Amino acid sequence: MSSAPRALIDLAALAHNLARVRALAPASRVLAVIKANGYGHGMIRVARALGAVDALAVARVGEGVALRRAGIFRPLVVLEGCCDLEELEQAAANRLELVVHSPEQIRLLRRHAVAEPLGCWLKVDTGMHRLGIALEQAPAACRELAACPAVAGIPRLMTHFANADDPGDPLTAEQWRRLGPLAAELKAEVSAANSGGILGWPETHGDWVRPGIMLYGVSPFQGGRAADAGLRPVMTLQSRLIAVNHYKKGDPIGYGGAWVCPEDMTVGVASVGYGDGYPRHAPPGTPVLLKGKRVPLVGRVSMDMISLDLRSVPQARVGDPVTLWGAGLPVEEVAEAAGTIPYQLLCGVAARVDFVEEQVAYGQESSRQTGL
Ligand SMILES: *Cc1c(COP(=O)(O)O)cnc(C)c1O
Repeated sequence: MSSAPRALIDLAALAHNLARVRALAPASRVLAVIKANGYGHGMIRVARALGAVDALAVARVGEGVALRRAGIFRPLVVLEGCCDLEELEQAAANRLELVVHSPEQIRLLRRHAVAEPLGCWLKVDTGMHRLGIALEQAPAACRELAACPAVAGIPRLMTHFANADDPGDPLTAEQWRRLGPLAAELKAEVSAANSGGILGWPETHGDWVRPGIMLYGVSPFQGGRAADAGLRPVMTLQSRLIAVNHYKKGDPIGYGGAWVCPEDMTVGVASVGYGDGYPRHAPPGTPVLLKGKRVPLVGRVSMDMISLDLRSVPQARVGDPVTLWGAGLPVEEVAEAAGTIPYQLLCGVAARVDFVEEQVAYGQESSRQTGL
């Protein structure tokens, strides 16, 4: 078997996580977010596996077009909307629904009729201050949109939470409180809750919830763990040991020689590096799972390799599988060690990594790891 890294994608875990969303928000429809290549899991694979959701959301028109070409015919929402006539025509030809967040986008829709009017979502800025129409201008914008020949029916309303990764932050409830009266006044359907909102603020579920990271089995909360939220990791990134070497006290390891052996010891090399999406800035001590044990990374991350302190696993041999994150080693833990967030690690897995659809025994190493 190849020593190249593999991303095992557990579609049963994805279904389990979707069931968690449904159980938490039973009265809401689900707009599943699959932007950025399905958070790195494969957008088309994830879209097919999420057959039971009410709609799918991507960031850009091109992602929606790719899904249509792959034969996905469910409602698709483009979270950034479109920026010119060419994109509007592409969206219309592919029956994409558009988020409308700016006066420029409203002007575009007013000026141009399309053969088949599009469903629209008016994005309102309730405090994130990234995209969205100001709260005070939202009623007029909504009426303008409803009157556009290119727009089908009354736009739905949406907003995005800025601080929902912190369960103690009062802004999330406040953002929801700002949107409520507007939705009632306009008699529009409303959507606000991302994964943090779904898990932490049940009052914000509204007509549509928009889960992203939780579908992939990751906690949206700072310091949180998927298991606490009843979620199962979908991606397990694995590779193998390709060398087991013995060094003397004082020997430097890898580029720059910044890490030096504190005693005579065994150092393993696993075939995975920043060229595969493993974070180059992961410091010594970042955990890697080997034979059910966390072993610390040592030295610098290379393009194709990392070095591991094998003092706690003397029985380690060339060919042994290692888990970089996923089943048995939460990606949240690795992200914390590397000073980033799980979103970035998952999105960053490189195209050179083999993606394999495989069920992973939850809480254990992969079935393929046994009997090697
Ligand atoms: C990415 C995104 C989401 C999903 O957020 P998670 O934190 O991954 O659940 C929801 N809504 C919008 C507008 C987004 O851009």
